[in-house]
Amino acid sequence: MEQRKPLFIANWKMNKLAQEVGAFVPKFNELTNIFSSKCEMVLAPVSVYLPKLVELTASTPIQVAAQNCGASKSGAFTGEVSPVMLKELGVHWVILGHSERRHVFKEDDALVNARLKAALEEGLIPVFCVGEKLEERKSGETFSVIERQLKGLKDISENNLKGLTIAYEPVWAIGTGENATPAQAQEVHAFIRQWLAKNISSTFANRTRILYGGSVKADNSAQLMAMGDVDGLLVGGASLDPLSFGDIVKRGLNS
Ligand code: PEP
Repeated sequence: MEQRKPLFIANWKMNKLAQEVGAFVPKFNELTNIFSSKCEMVLAPVSVYLPKLVELTASTPIQVAAQNCGASKSGAFTGEVSPVMLKELGVHWVILGHSERRHVFKEDDALVNARLKAALEEGLIPVFCVGEKLEERKSGETFSVIERQLKGLKDISENNLKGLTIAYEPVWAIGTGENATPAQAQEVHAFIRQWLAKNISSTFANRTRILYGGSVKADNSAQLMAMGDVDGLLVGGASLDPLSFGDIVKRGLNS
């Protein structure tokens, strides 16, 4: 089985002003520099601070992600930022299909898939988010929802999917303080990996990182990362403070 390097991503959502973005980087870098050969660490600020963050992290092991990207290279799409523009800025990662995009901004599977294709065409690394709502879990629909959200991957060649990362983020666990138990996360991660093996290839399934996200904190990161199919963590609220996110990385690596 291929070795999957642990990956920790901070999703800052619509938080932090320029000064706070600036203050985060040196502190976080100081705390995590010693772990940098053991994992990858990515920060996702709001789009206006992407250039600043690219500059601040240039001589560090820290990488930068956008929180979304447009489905076209350019054109009449007010408010969107194209993957070509992200690439030009030196941004290599992009979060797509986050539950807030899907459920607050009503992005459907077709739109998320179009964004995914555009990002892959530009060579960005997408962090493709999937996850069920509470009522879907309660009615036993978790796997069918995940399957529906993953379905678009079948239209993309395995070669073009290179670099894809998947994040399982149960909607009921995001920002609620109620994380999935390690066993609940493992069950869905294993399901996703089996789906990838069946519908893409077993090589692809073995090398693709599947992150867990939803109320991750320093005191649950080690238990979640101990699961065989949890390859990293996507962290919202607890990533806003460098000490807390640094601790999540440290404990997640069991260091
Ligand atoms: C997220 O926004 O992706 C997330 C997981 O948020 P939180 O960690 O705050 O639940």
